[in-house]
Amino acid sequence: MSLFNGILICVQVSLLTQFSWAHEHRESGAHVHGAAHLDIAFDGTKGKVELHGAGDSFIGFEHEAITPADKKTQNQALDILETKIAEMVVFETGLKCTFLKDKVELNHEEGAHSDIEAIWSITCQSSVVGSRLTINIQKFFPRVKDLDLQVLADSIQLSAESRQSGTVINIKAK
Ligand SMILES: [Zn+2]
Repeated sequence: MSLFNGILICVQVSLLTQFSWAHEHRESGAHVHGAAHLDIAFDGTKGKVELHGAGDSFIGFEHEAITPADKKTQNQALDILETKIAEMVVFETGLKCTFLKDKVELNHEEGAHSDIEAIWSITCQSSVVGSRLTINIQKFFPRVKDLDLQVLADSIQLSAESRQSGTVINIKAK
């Protein structure tokens, strides 16, 4: 049992470390079609929401958009990221959370791959601790089959997975 506890603690520490420099880690790390990461970190009532994933997961292709049809598809995906975050990452209405976009970027890597990087600042009127968070990324981006989530809020640290729209995360200590 003590060994098991030790393993659990190691996992938690490595997750925290990974989260704090998640961005750098991911750019050099996994690029998986159909996957994405959503990282939410609050300090009190202010936080950051970061969404990273393969361009394929959001747009359906990763080559440079040249044809009008590809440009339209790509612009529609980026437009959803620009405007629909409050419908994709849904906090309880009573918290009165508002998002402010920091960036929505499609970055082409060397070779044929691309990645989405989107970051928002979020401000709520009350702490999100103890509330329910609903994840509807897949409602807009059904190609995201595997969304890994991390939520930090004060002393709470959660890891979760969303495989379909409507996944509910309880932001509370387990
Ligand atoms: Zn790719």
